[in-house]
Amino acid sequence: MKRVFGVIGLGRFGFNVAKTLAEGGAEVIACDIDEEKVKQISELVHQAFILDATDERALKESGIANADTVIVSIGENIEASILVVVQLMELKVKEIIAKAVNPLHGKVLERLGISRVIHPERDMAIRLAHSLLVGGFIEEIPIAENYSIFEMLPPERLHHKTLKELDLRRRHDMTVLAIKRGEKLMANPSGDEKILPNDILVVLGNIEKISLL
Ligand code: ATP
Repeated sequence: MKRVFGVIGLGRFGFNVAKTLAEGGAEVIACDIDEEKVKQISELVHQAFILDATDERALKESGIANADTVIVSIGENIEASILVVVQLMELKVKEIIAKAVNPLHGKVLERLGISRVIHPERDMAIRLAHSLLVGGFIEEIPIAENYSIFEMLPPERLHHKTLKELDLRRRHDMTVLAIKRGEKLMANPSGDEKILPNDILVVLGNIEKISLL
């Protein structure tokens, strides 16, 4: 059975979430208070409604609360964002994801205990900065405030050296979790493994130390 997603608020973020989910084959119910926004998405998604999502009755009637996951993407009007989240909680939506536009907004949403709070602008800015700091940056999965898993090309300085020689854990507070070599993945490589120029390293570490590699 198709997963059903609700998207509330069709600004740039919500619009692209709804569009991409629909393109990926999911069933999407989208809504916005602005008629123009609803018109723009209506041909791309399963159902689209013009409604004020802070209005409990309208929200209920739209059926959006029956979705498996609802994404609340109302930014500027923080009060509306919080009211909508509370209504969705009342309607027992299984998974609620909401966009926060500033730290306080994020904190309030976290306190409500929803499944996930996202900070797209902040996170994209951090990701961009990290990609500029880490040479050969490919991908980043943030783990904690100061730690991420990075997928990166090894800087030349590491080429043809073994992990033991490099002693990355002690010198750079980083652990090589895996080495991707062509089609092959070497998980938990031993200290005798040599890093080759075309390898992709999967490392767990701290951005400050990794940027000094
Ligand atoms: P983005 O950066 O993604 O473009 P934003 O963070 O600036 O968006 P807003 O413009 O505040 O966010 O809101 C996103 C959308 O939510 C807008 O299209 C707006 O019309 C819609 N919206 C705001 N309040 C409500 C509401 N009460 N019910 C439904 N939609 C709403």
